[in-house]
Amino acid sequence: MSSTPFWNEIEGLPWREVQRVQEEKLRKQLDYLWARSPFYQRKLAQAGVKPGQIKTLSDLQNVPFTLKQELRDSIKSSPPLGLHLAAPLNEVVQVQASSGTTGSPSYVGVTRRDLWVWCEMGARTFYANGFRPGDFCLHAFSMSKGFVGGVPIFQILQYMGICDLPIGVDAGTERLLRVLADQRPGALTATPYFAIYLGEQAEQVLGVPAREFSVRKISTGGEPGGGIPSVRAKMEEIWGAEVREMLGGTDLGCAYWAECEDKSGMHTCAQEFIIAEIIDPESGQVLEPKEGVKGELVYTAIDREASPLLRFRTGDHVLVTGTDCRCGRTGFKVRCFGRTDDMLIVKGINVFPSAIKDVVTTFEPRTTGLMKVIADFTGHTTQQPLKLKVEYGPGLSPDQVGPLREELARKIQSLLVFRPEIEMVPPDTLEKPGVQKVALIERVAPTQI
Ligand SMILES: [Zn+2]
Repeated sequence: MSSTPFWNEIEGLPWREVQRVQEEKLRKQLDYLWARSPFYQRKLAQAGVKPGQIKTLSDLQNVPFTLKQELRDSIKSSPPLGLHLAAPLNEVVQVQASSGTTGSPSYVGVTRRDLWVWCEMGARTFYANGFRPGDFCLHAFSMSKGFVGGVPIFQILQYMGICDLPIGVDAGTERLLRVLADQRPGALTATPYFAIYLGEQAEQVLGVPAREFSVRKISTGGEPGGGIPSVRAKMEEIWGAEVREMLGGTDLGCAYWAECEDKSGMHTCAQEFIIAEIIDPESGQVLEPKEGVKGELVYTAIDREASPLLRFRTGDHVLVTGTDCRCGRTGFKVRCFGRTDDMLIVKGINVFPSAIKDVVTTFEPRTTGLMKVIADFTGHTTQQPLKLKVEYGPGLSPDQVGPLREELARKIQSLLVFRPEIEMVPPDTLEKPGVQKVALIERVAPTQI
């Protein structure tokens, strides 16, 4: 087992040196796209940009954004992998499907080289999360549907010399717990709320609390939560394990941001593979990644053969939590707090359902942590108070429910700057985390006022 601080020494290089490598690879990538990608040839030409004009990271701001919808259209007009495909189809060895919230998924092609890049970025990610060669990991992300939490994470762990148990959340809670009891893995990877649910079921299904099993490290991602102190504390308590968060996304790879032992935000693990910019989602202006800055992540792949992306708008909204770290990794750190797709605008205030859920979670055990936004309006904007259903905890007496509702409403108002209309519902009313990520928004027929 290695005791070095990083998977790859580039993680500790001064950031300016990393940026020099990024600029060199950016120039190469643009030459490659100019020669091979009809989609980007047209896009750059329309913007009046010639590849030779983009030499530095600040020049990159002259390149137009790529939107998810453009990729869908590109794939539709030239299946199976779109006009942006830049490698011969017979060099593509794997296709992943991104979980689109609307319509058909987007498909991402991976060559042998791309696969190596994905594994290398993922290895840095899991290493930062505390995973080491020789570990034995229970895989509780979905293994199906071409989701990157499935096969690509399996490939990354195997690349690192970690033994993966590819059971998957699709197998069901009981099977996962049975495997946990039989095989005694020391590590677990899952979405944060499913990891909590799985741990909570252990005593009922196996007759033994989760913490009495062998899991001592958990890498969690796929939705915000793992970096929220109350959610992390709950997971750590249930499992008796160290919990660290990671982040990625299908369009650029699998996992490429990760918390280190400092647990103070996620480091980039894609140093010479992806340039990450933070922009103001409204103006599109690039923001300097200083502590406290909030914005949307925009990615440019600079070592990508099959499905390249320039300035891809992820819809992931992040907060910059710092620019240095005691672990020695360089670059800025982020925490993701929501996605554009999920964002609601309540009387002009931006509201992320995941942020409401975080507040509800801090009220456990008086709440079960489960909640839903009841959207009785079309689209994402409402001028009415936002309606929530929140499950109260099993031990609560009827006269405690009213005061809890009021306390919750006040807390949400003070933290998230809007006052919701809350309906408290009994335990076991709302859908629990399982195979699917639980939708935090329930759409109902619009009400007329
Ligand atoms: Zn660190």
